[in-house]
Amino acid sequence: MNAILKTVSSGAVFDHPEFHDHENVVFARDAETGLSAIIAVHDTALGPALGGCRMWTYAHPGEALTDALRLSRGMTYKNAVAGLPLGGGKAVILADPKTAKTPALMEAFGRHVARLSGTYITAEDVGVSPADMEAVARQTEHVRGTHATGLGDPSPYTALGVFAGIKAAARHVFGSDDLRGRSVSLQGLGNVGRALARHLHEAGARLIVSDIHAPAVERAVAAYGATAVSPGEAHAVTADIFAPCALGAGLNSKTIPELKARIVAGAANNQLHSPQDGAELAARQILYAPDYVINAGGVISIALAKPGMDDGLVREKTLAIGDTLTEIFSRSGTEGRRPEQIADEMAQERLTQHV
Ligand code: NAD
Repeated sequence: MNAILKTVSSGAVFDHPEFHDHENVVFARDAETGLSAIIAVHDTALGPALGGCRMWTYAHPGEALTDALRLSRGMTYKNAVAGLPLGGGKAVILADPKTAKTPALMEAFGRHVARLSGTYITAEDVGVSPADMEAVARQTEHVRGTHATGLGDPSPYTALGVFAGIKAAARHVFGSDDLRGRSVSLQGLGNVGRALARHLHEAGARLIVSDIHAPAVERAVAAYGATAVSPGEAHAVTADIFAPCALGAGLNSKTIPELKARIVAGAANNQLHSPQDGAELAARQILYAPDYVINAGGVISIALAKPGMDDGLVREKTLAIGDTLTEIFSRSGTEGRRPEQIADEMAQERLTQHV
């Protein structure tokens, strides 16, 4: 526990620019397994704080804290706009998922989740798989995204929702949601990006793909005839749509002036480096699909699925993300405010109505 706090430095939490009255921030340590994690519970007004667990090689603990604070707040807004009876939270484990992940480490994480007595419910995120969640589930019942708790991996539903959101954005910008012949630059071919690539290919889109993991790119090139570009070029290539499906903060003062797409619509959380970046996108007349709205399919699947049920209801609610975005884009046009501002307002309205 103290190792992380010492490096983050005292006073760094309450004064942190991303600290927005989070209800609870836990610095979790397990010396035996080497676990260092941060669990951030942002808001439980609508229900227990549901949000995935990310494992990542952060440059330093301060970066992990920033991620946990931002992601957990995003989950509050995501769950509110998706109409779920859930609050927002998120966990980050400071480790390399390729080398440091063990069942014992995930179980140690599960014991820390158990101590929160259900105020935080965990699930998969970047670097964490359904099998890892099975290990967590050996220590706590407050876990979703396993086959025992519902439909398993939420990523296919996230991809389905992003696909519905891309179609809604295309309808708004191009007057048609027919993706045949439209080009989409996909950044990140992980669990979500891979499934999204398949939907886009089946809809007739031309794919431009990138990932820091070369085999993922090779697979997409072979399966879909996609054009490969380097990860640093993905945002800047000539394409109708840019779909960020890797990590956050990819839309910033360096990348936005280089964008050629008319639409940014992808799965990554926290795509805007700062609120000003949303204004820069709007100034360039690039339509931005707010990240926590378009990528809510996974949390919808986690929240609504019950063991043994089919996925009809989950698919229906996930596809409705397209309708929510259509409303946001249309209000944005008539009210003269940016899509992410309308989305924030929708979330805040729901939170206030509840209080
Ligand atoms: P993942 O770890 O399976 O995939 C991420 C992929 O991005 C990996 O293949 C990785 O190699 C690649 N990548 C990393 N940095 C890159 C870069 N600079 N350029 C190109 N590729 C890069 O994660 P995922 O589950 O597919 O999630 C992708 C994004 O969507 C994340 O931001 C995640 O938070 C968000 N998200 C995921 C879900 C879900 O259901 N999995 C739900 C909501 C949001």
